[in-house]
Amino acid sequence: MKITPIGIWGGYPKANSATSSFLIEHDGFHCLIDCGSGVLSSLQNYVPLEKLDAVVVSHYHADHIADIGSLQFSRIINFYLGHQAPPLPIYGHMEDQENFEKLSYKDQTVGVGISDGNVVQIGPFEVSFCRTIHPVYCLAMKFSVGDNSIVLTADTEWRDELVDFAYGTNLLISEANLYEKHLGKAPGHMAGSEAGRLAKLAGAKQLVLTHLPLHGDINEILEAAGAVYDGPTELARVGYEYYIM
Ligand SMILES: [Zn+2]
Repeated sequence: MKITPIGIWGGYPKANSATSSFLIEHDGFHCLIDCGSGVLSSLQNYVPLEKLDAVVVSHYHADHIADIGSLQFSRIINFYLGHQAPPLPIYGHMEDQENFEKLSYKDQTVGVGISDGNVVQIGPFEVSFCRTIHPVYCLAMKFSVGDNSIVLTADTEWRDELVDFAYGTNLLISEANLYEKHLGKAPGHMAGSEAGRLAKLAGAKQLVLTHLPLHGDINEILEAAGAVYDGPTELARVGYEYYIM
């Protein structure tokens, strides 16, 4: 498996960048994880849009879905240009029917329902889901091929169940949206120390931090995680290729 950060920000993107998103690939299959603001632009540095095989969205906040409409327009423009393509599956939960229905568009994209506890095959990946704690229904996800896995927490505050869900993973990609001074004051997100604690308790082999705040010095978040977790830890780097095999 290869996974590439497309964007790293929570809420909205800095200039010329994108909100937290990842491209995961295996055996020529390309799956985009979350599609918020700036993602469609950044993504084209790593894969032509028509080569996307699937999209998974964790939840329906704008910083995770803002560019879905533009992605759908790219498909319909391609269609009008005479290029036939099968509908692109976009996996999202069905707890919010209005937003779920927007995943389907003119036979170009089709929404596919996912839920807490589901295990689905997406191309070469076995993907399982675990509900997080966030102001809206949100799903963490685990992509597995054979014995290897990559776990993404999506947006969440601390939840004990995520330790079991991430247990033994090769790569934990955790949100870390809060500075330590904001711990407990902003619902729905974790601080660096909590991401580090999750990696430690889950025995993750590597930790990458994402969904970072636009204010302050994000290296403080890295330090807070590294103070708890002994394994390799870094801030997600856009365009860097992480190989798990
Ligand atoms: Zn959110």
